[in-house]
Amino acid sequence: MITIALSKGRIFEETLPLLAAAGIVPNENPEASRKLIIGTNRDDVRVVIVRATDVPTYVQYGAADLGIAGKDVLLEHGGAGLYQPLDLKIARCRMCVAAPAGFDYAAAVRRGARLKIATKYVNTAREHFAKKGVHVDLIKLYGSMELAPLAGLADAIVDLVSTGGTLRANQLVEVEEIMPISARLIVNQASLKTKRGLLKPVLEAIEGALR
Ligand code: ATP
Ligand code: MG
Repeated sequence: MITIALSKGRIFEETLPLLAAAGIVPNENPEASRKLIIGTNRDDVRVVIVRATDVPTYVQYGAADLGIAGKDVLLEHGGAGLYQPLDLKIARCRMCVAAPAGFDYAAAVRRGARLKIATKYVNTAREHFAKKGVHVDLIKLYGSMELAPLAGLADAIVDLVSTGGTLRANQLVEVEEIMPISARLIVNQASLKTKRGLLKPVLEAIEGALR
């Protein structure tokens, strides 16, 4: 049996065509069903539906053999025990620093100000600002980072942006790109050896579908 860990929403939607190319079709849509374990057209493949940030954990411990997770999530997790063979180029966006339109971020950085940064991505943010020599106090949030500067919790945020619509709607501007983000296929390192016969054709088919 192969278990694939997926999160609902954009990752699930954008993964369906790749799985289909590998001959794997889930029996149900997790948005409609409340089931957390979903069978597929293949008796030896099932999908488990987990929170996006939990995908690397399921694969790391072998509760899932495969998973699909954003690079943002993988960087925060650290990637221990995971083999990351493929950039699936789906769920694309960028991680960036954003600040209120009236805040001169560049000037604050130049004069060496200590900045309050709210983010869900504290590890990635810490590394980014350390590399740039910017002093920051990081404030961990679990959602709606855009609110933090508006409510006076932080000077700026580190968040994912695709169209920029949410930033604009909240009078925030992107002041620095940290890195481009896309979803990656992750594989449990032990499964790769013990289930090679089952996994290899699936990995090859997904790779083929990307080309
Ligand atoms: P939740 O929304 O349930 O709090 P989440 O934000 O972790 O959880 P999603 O919003 O489904 O889950 O995001 C899943 C992944 O999709 C993210 O980890 C990221 O890689 C990618 N992603 C997030 N926001 C965007 C976006 N605006 N455009 C494209 N991809 C995105
Ligand atoms: Mg989200």
